[in-house]
Amino acid sequence: MSSKKEYLKKAGKGTRSVHSGTSPSENSLNTPVYQSSTFFLDDESYEMWRKGLPRAPVYSRYNNPSTRAVEKKIAQLEEAEDALVFSTGMAAICTTLLTFLSQGDRIVTTRNLYGGTVLALDQDFVRFGIDVTYVNVKDLAAVEEALKEKETKVLYCETLTNPLLEVSDLPSLARLAKKYGAIPIVDSTFATPMSCQPLNLGFEAVIHSVTKLLNGHSDILGGTVAGSKEIIDQIWYKSRNFGGSMDPHQASLLERGMKTLHVRYEKSTETAGKLVTWLESHPKIEKVIYPGLKSHDDYELCKKIMDTPSTMVCFEVKGGDEAGRKLMDNLNIAAQAVSLGGVESLISMPCLTTHVSWKAEDRLAAGIGPGFIRFSTGLEDSEDLIADFKQALNSL
Ligand SMILES: *Cc1c(COP(=O)(O)O)cnc(C)c1O
Repeated sequence: MSSKKEYLKKAGKGTRSVHSGTSPSENSLNTPVYQSSTFFLDDESYEMWRKGLPRAPVYSRYNNPSTRAVEKKIAQLEEAEDALVFSTGMAAICTTLLTFLSQGDRIVTTRNLYGGTVLALDQDFVRFGIDVTYVNVKDLAAVEEALKEKETKVLYCETLTNPLLEVSDLPSLARLAKKYGAIPIVDSTFATPMSCQPLNLGFEAVIHSVTKLLNGHSDILGGTVAGSKEIIDQIWYKSRNFGGSMDPHQASLLERGMKTLHVRYEKSTETAGKLVTWLESHPKIEKVIYPGLKSHDDYELCKKIMDTPSTMVCFEVKGGDEAGRKLMDNLNIAAQAVSLGGVESLISMPCLTTHVSWKAEDRLAAGIGPGFIRFSTGLEDSEDLIADFKQALNSL
């Protein structure tokens, strides 16, 4: 079986999405759900345990064949040596960062991150004496200045940010990090390995909240980190200590979800492209924010580092936040909910959710104007989604 699977390393992303990692047992086509907290010990596992080797197959917090199958799938899609999965995206982020950061160490990052990550950095990492320095990662000179000023352990950013869909210049940031001895780590949740493989652009670890596009069905939480075996082994020891491991049932659902990642991603991106073109020409739309549009500041950079501009679409509706709320209420298809990347389209306004505690002028200064809406494109027919937006905008 293992030699037959060698072809996968050179196979396309679709073939890898379907087949990589799958670990049949007996005559099964699929990886069974190894719903077991513990495993029979034998000479080999006793030996691994005695030596403290990573992934000793002794207990499901250490390793489980169902989670291992999906880790291999993720590793092959990221073209990484290895990967590790976690109970949530935040567990993946915190465990990874706390593997490399100790008291007194410094992380250089940007405020333009997933809100939960900023909260963890500001409320907890700082509490443990970690120096969290924020810079604008779009300003490479400012990043270099920060790295030059003081020894830095980690440089951290996101490939595609929420909600302005700014693209980070990953090759340049990786080069700067390496020049000053920092480990470059990226959260690539919005991009997925279908669009961007940060490890091939010089990053040393790539994180995803698999809750979003990788699983794609809005039915589990989960997180992952991929990188070299050396990096992933180090994170494994902390994952064992901190305990944010993924459970086997969650892993089985994730493996099934990921088998269709390529078709879901391609279809949703195609629909997103049709929707932004339609929205751009609508008189009640103030502006459309999508890195696949020439009007977006990162259009060129997106073309350079991402294969496709992703499934997230943002726009501002004329009439401000009130009109935005009304538009969402008028829609029949998209559900008002946070999160993204599922088969069903989701819609939300930062002013009512992620940025609700911000003053309107602060939101405006951050680029979130009145009537700003975030849309996660699902798998519904594009004609239906557009017709739904048409009736909802017409009744404003
Ligand atoms: C959702 C999300 C997270 C957090 O993931 P959870 O699975 O909710 O813990 C982290 N980063 C990004 C970019 C996200 O969208």
